[in-house]
Amino acid sequence: MDPDLERMVELLNDIDDILCCPRCDLALSRTKVVVGSGPLDARIVLIGEAPGRNEDKKGEPFVGAAGRNLDALLEKSGIHRRDVYITNVVKCRPPGNRPPRACEIEACHPYLQRQLEAISPKIIVLMGRTAAEAMLERKVNLEKEHGTVIEKGGIKYMITYHPAAMIYNQRLGDTIAGDFKKVSALLLEG
Ligand code: URA
Repeated sequence: MDPDLERMVELLNDIDDILCCPRCDLALSRTKVVVGSGPLDARIVLIGEAPGRNEDKKGEPFVGAAGRNLDALLEKSGIHRRDVYITNVVKCRPPGNRPPRACEIEACHPYLQRQLEAISPKIIVLMGRTAAEAMLERKVNLEKEHGTVIEKGGIKYMITYHPAAMIYNQRLGDTIAGDFKKVSALLLEG
């Protein structure tokens, strides 16, 4: 196992045995728990919705079609994937890729919270409505709010669209890349 993943699993095992997590019904249908990937000292954390079919098989976030979009967007924005920590609101695949239910998000939240505490990034990018609403605990209007920095509890968040949204609307690619460029600029400001 990758040493960063091993360390993160150790930290999360204080909450429950993450790789065999029984905290919600997604445990019944998943193949692998998708904890997250990236360095534990990352300055940027990206949060998506939930693993898809490829992620569920591989145990890694964003390795399917949405992952390819994400890689292209990061490259366009001058951010290296190896420098960011990537995870999801829920760590197990919802059957048929349905959106995660509120009870599943709640059951998984302590893991995400612990990950964010451990990494303590400069900025957290919320990719898509599920991530934005779960972390900000309110309704979010992506069209109006993407690209803006929101401070909550002393933490900086940037909302953007989910990379899978590009699959249906290619023009959103430029919008998301623009949002990622703002994230880079923010880090350069220090
Ligand atoms: N979509 C997500 O939100 N997360 C993944 O890991 C893959 C696709």
